[in-house]
Amino acid sequence: MASRKSIIDTRQHQMFPSLEPAEIERLRRFGEVRAFAAGAALQRVGEVGHGLNVILSGAVDMTQRHQSGPSTPIVTYGPGAFMGELAQLAGRQALVDAHAREAVEVLLIPPERLRAMFVAEAEVGERIMRALILRRVGLLETGAGGPVIVGRSEHPDVLRLEGFLARNGHPRLKLDPETDPEAKALIDRFHVDPGQLPIVLCSGGQLLRNPSEVELARCIGMLGPIDAQRIYDVGIVGAGPAGLATAVYAASEGLSALVLDGRAFGGQAGASARIENYLGFPTGITGMALMARAYNQAQKFGAEMVIPDAATGLDVLEQANGEFVLRLGSAGQARVRTIVIASGARYRRLNVAKLEDFEASSVHYWASPLEAKLVAGQEVALVGGGNSAGQAAVYLATQAAKVWLIIRSEALAASMSQYLVERIRGLANVEVVSQAQISHLAGRNGNLEQVCWRLASGTQVCRQVRHLFLFIGAEPNSDWLSGTLKLDRKGFVLTGAEAGLSRQPLETSRVGVFAIGDVRAGSVKRVAAAVGEGAQVVAMLHAYLAARERVGASAQRG
Ligand SMILES: Cc1cc2nc3c(=O)[nH]c(=O)nc-3n(C[C@H](O)[C@H](O)[C@H](O)COP(=O)(O)OP(=O)(O)OC[C@H]3O[C@@H](n4cnc5c(N)ncnc54)[C@H](O)[C@@H]3O)c2cc1C
Repeated sequence: MASRKSIIDTRQHQMFPSLEPAEIERLRRFGEVRAFAAGAALQRVGEVGHGLNVILSGAVDMTQRHQSGPSTPIVTYGPGAFMGELAQLAGRQALVDAHAREAVEVLLIPPERLRAMFVAEAEVGERIMRALILRRVGLLETGAGGPVIVGRSEHPDVLRLEGFLARNGHPRLKLDPETDPEAKALIDRFHVDPGQLPIVLCSGGQLLRNPSEVELARCIGMLGPIDAQRIYDVGIVGAGPAGLATAVYAASEGLSALVLDGRAFGGQAGASARIENYLGFPTGITGMALMARAYNQAQKFGAEMVIPDAATGLDVLEQANGEFVLRLGSAGQARVRTIVIASGARYRRLNVAKLEDFEASSVHYWASPLEAKLVAGQEVALVGGGNSAGQAAVYLATQAAKVWLIIRSEALAASMSQYLVERIRGLANVEVVSQAQISHLAGRNGNLEQVCWRLASGTQVCRQVRHLFLFIGAEPNSDWLSGTLKLDRKGFVLTGAEAGLSRQPLETSRVGVFAIGDVRAGSVKRVAAAVGEGAQVVAMLHAYLAARERVGASAQRG
C-alpha cells in the first residue's frame, strides 16, 4: 500500500516561502533588527517566543528535540526566509529549537506588531499566515515539539489527554509501553511505577503524572494567567462557532476580546465529521478544520484565548461604569465591559445502567479521526437519528467493520436530512435498527465488551461491541448563569423583547450582556446561524460601548 505523503512533500514551497528584498523592506517598519553570533540560540523549545524572525543574513538551523536521542534537523533558513509557526501568533511556547549556523541578522516582529502587519500588508501577510498554519500541520503530523504521553493506548486517561490535545490542535506523541521500547526507557529513566501511568513529558522537560487538562495546558504554555488589571471590551464565553465568529469580527474591528472555553475551541461543530451545509464549502469540510481556521483567524486579529477555563458566574462591578467580572473555574477572574454568552449546548446522555463505568474509554460523544482509529475493523453501535448521528455513521463506516445505527423512530427520514439518508442507504456496512433502544451494557475494567438493544417486539439483541457512540441531542450550557439572567423553561437564555423592555434583539435581561448561538432561546441550531449571530452581535457591542462612552463623557462634563 502506498504510504500517505507528508505535508512537507506536498506543500513545501508554501511552508517555506522566501520573501523578496522589496517585501522585507516594507516589513521593516513592524520590527527591529537583531544580531546573533554563530551557535547562538534564537529560540528554545518550551520558552515563550518573541515573535516572527525574518532572516536578513546568515543561516539558521531549525531542529526537533526528542526525549531520548539527538535532535533531528527540520530545515535550514537563509536570507528571505522567516522562522515561526502558529505559536508565534499568540506569543506561546516555541515547539522547535533554532540556532544560528553562522553570524545571523534577523528582523524580529513581536506578536502585537505581527497583527498590525497582517492587516496592513495583506498579500505578504497571507503568505506568512499560510506558512505558519502549514508548519503547525507538519508538526501535528509528526507530533514534533508537543508533549509526550506515555501510557497504554486504550487507557481512559491516555484517551482523555490525547483527545484534549487533538481537539486543541496541539502536536503530541504517544508512546505505548506495550509496543514502544522508547516508552519503557522513559519509564525507567523517571522511575515511574507502572500504576502511575500515564505520565506526560512537556516540551520544556517537566514531568506530569496523570495530569488534569488544566495542568497539561499550563505545562505546554497553552494557558497563562489573565491580566487582572486589563479591562477587555468584550468577554466571550465559549469558543464554538458563535464565540469564534464574535472574536473574529470584534477583534478585526478594533475591540479587545477575551475568549474563554472550558474544553477546547470548536464546540459541537468541532465534533462534526463533515459539515456539508456551510456556505462556501461545496465538497464539505470537517468541523475541526473549519473551526481551526476560525480559531487561527481570531488570534491573527489579536483575540486572546483562555482555554481550558470555564466561566462559573458573572458579577456586575460598580454599576455606575457598568464593568462586569467573569468568574472563572481556575479561581481567576476577567474584567470586561460587555459579555457575549456563546456557551452552546452539551450532548445528552443515555439513560442506561452502567453507562458511567464505560464513559472514559468506550462511550463517545464525538467521531473524530482519533475515535475512527480506535474502532478500525470492529463493530460499533451508534445511537441517534439526527444529522449529527448520520454524519458520524457515514464517517465511522469508513473504518469500522460494521455500524449498528440504533434509532427510536420507524425510519431515518423522520429526523435526518434526505442526503444523509440516501448515503447511509448506500453503505453496506451500516445497518439501521429502527424502533429500538439500548437496554444493557457489559464489560470489564471500564472497557465495554457487549451492547444489547431491545426491539419493538420485545426481543433483546446483543453484539460484541467495544465502542458505543451517542448522538441524541443537546441541552443548553447555562447552569453557570444560575439566576443572573432570564432563561426559558428548558434553560435557554432569553434575548430581545422576551428578556425585557427595550432590549436589543440579542441582548439578555441584563443590559450589556448578549447571548448568541445554540444557548440562546429560539436560535436556529446550525453552524451558519451561530456564525451569523456572532457577526451580528458585534454591531450591538459597538452601539452599547459608544452609548456608554457618551454617558460617561456627559457625566464628567456635568
Ligand atoms: C456531531 C455534530 C454534528 C453537527 N453537524 C452540523 C452540520 O453539519 N451543520 C450544521 O449547521 N450544524 C451542525 N451541528 C450543530 C452545530 O454544531 C451547532 O449548532 C453549533 O456548533 C452551535 O454553536 P455555538 O457556538 O452556539 O455552541 P457550541 O458549538 O455548543 O459551543 C459552545 C462552546 O462553549 C463552551 N462552554 C460551555 N460552557 C462554558 C462555560 N461556562 N465557560 C466557558 N466555555 C463554555 C463549550 O465547551 C463549547 O466549546 C452539529 C452538531 C453536532 C453535535
